[in-house]
Amino acid sequence: MKYLCSVCGKIPTSGTMTGKILICDECEPEIQAEIDRREDAGELVNMTHITRKIFRRKNPNSITLQIRDMPEDLQNAIKTYACEENISVREAVLIALQNYFDKF
Ligand SMILES: [Zn+2]
Repeated sequence: MKYLCSVCGKIPTSGTMTGKILICDECEPEIQAEIDRREDAGELVNMTHITRKIFRRKNPNSITLQIRDMPEDLQNAIKTYACEENISVREAVLIALQNYFDKF
């Protein structure tokens, strides 16, 4: 599976894809509990909002990076990969970084 779990940010071995949101089997119970809680409270259930909120709670030290002046060839390679895999550019960059640092 080449996608990242939207909750834990890891490349899962199995999970459920809903639209462009992948939730790994390990994170699924936590997401379902939040969906149930929101439905019981009569709140809006927005998967993107839920996964982002839980991701930020689980990863309080996550960082936001901007990459300035990226060489055009590299940009094109990332965009091409993202299109081919039907994933976002963000996911393509994160997957590439994850694969690189998994070697250490
Ligand atoms: Zn997960």
